[in-house]
Amino acid sequence: MNAACTPIEAAAPRPRRSRQARIAWGSRVVTVGGDAPVRVQSMTNTDTVDAIGTAIQVKELAQAGSEVVRITVNTPEAAQQVPYIREQLDRMGIDVPLVGDFHYNGHRLLSDHPACAEALSKYRINPGNVGKGDKHDRQFAQMIEAALRWDRPVRIGVNWGSLDQELLARMMDENSRRAEPWDAKAVMYEALITSAIGSAERARGLGMNPDQILLSCKVSGVQDLISVYRELARRCDYALHLGLTEAGMGTKGTVASSVAMGILLQEGIGDTIRVSLTPQPGEARTQEVVIASEILQALGLRSFVPSVTACPGCGRTTSTTFQELAKQIDDHLRAQMPVWRERYAGVERLKVAVMGCIVNGPGESKHADIGISLPGTGEAPAAPVFIDGEKALTLRGDNIAAEFHQIVETYIEKRFGAAG
Ligand code: SF4
Repeated sequence: MNAACTPIEAAAPRPRRSRQARIAWGSRVVTVGGDAPVRVQSMTNTDTVDAIGTAIQVKELAQAGSEVVRITVNTPEAAQQVPYIREQLDRMGIDVPLVGDFHYNGHRLLSDHPACAEALSKYRINPGNVGKGDKHDRQFAQMIEAALRWDRPVRIGVNWGSLDQELLARMMDENSRRAEPWDAKAVMYEALITSAIGSAERARGLGMNPDQILLSCKVSGVQDLISVYRELARRCDYALHLGLTEAGMGTKGTVASSVAMGILLQEGIGDTIRVSLTPQPGEARTQEVVIASEILQALGLRSFVPSVTACPGCGRTTSTTFQELAKQIDDHLRAQMPVWRERYAGVERLKVAVMGCIVNGPGESKHADIGISLPGTGEAPAAPVFIDGEKALTLRGDNIAAEFHQIVETYIEKRFGAAG
């Protein structure tokens, strides 16, 4: 080792510096911002008028790990169903706070349907969609008054697809009068941030506690999101809801959301996240919760489920045994989490390794809490199992998968169970 060199600094997310909001339902309080962990949230895609269907989807999202769930409240019929959805959830023992997503008519829905206003734990207000001209400020004020009446936090959620057009036009005019006008994108960034922070200031002027205001400025481009949120975080200390809007489907949506949010979270920006994934046909809505959780877990910000390290496979292993075993273990651990979370405190930090051959298998398995190194092509048909860094036993024969499964279960019971 070079005597003059210094230890390599371990990378870690920077601390956040936001205010802390409280989103509550009954005795369940979800804090967002400040020293609270970065929260996972999601949104239903059911018709809110279908109260049972919506309650079931909220339950699925909550059980997948969503700590706050947003529902669309777009019509009087939808608003009427909100208390019933809440009641169904309470009956099922699902105390996840519900957020109402309001546009255009939120001021009327919140005043005409007090039971809806009461059943929701937070209101999302889009300042670009609260009315034009002199109606804008009046209707925005009516929504803030409802939040004050029911003592609810609000998210002022700006979106570049529905940016306040009057504000944007005014800022474009001002820009054209500059000696050196900014480019259109820079004006749009400024308009997004001005709309969010200006609306928050209006809400404070109406009596809203700044701790109970969350902000978001969603755009659909990765670099745009990074630019906007860096500046938003620099200019204010409100708790920030982070998400790439209209991220897209499948791999594209997953990668774009992960990259954008990963960079910002590493910089300490973002207090709650939502992955706006378009579900593939037949795909569960809960996928957006799984991805959001994985982003936070990959950054080391939170732990939700035990992690399975598996090698990618190569020419040294031509069978699919290790792929199948890795998937079985991963699926099993994830499926058990709703029960294990209650029974085995700390199990979400478990690390399991399933490796394909002797090259990296034993080494990677030793780094995990429990690992198995399967035989590669041409290797003796034996699979050493490592527990807490030590070789514990070797599995042989046709039943390796089932036996390893059992070893993992026994380890969890011993380490995280009541006796552990
Ligand atoms: S552990 Fe073995 S099978 Fe897996 S990628 Fe490495 S060399 Fe290939």
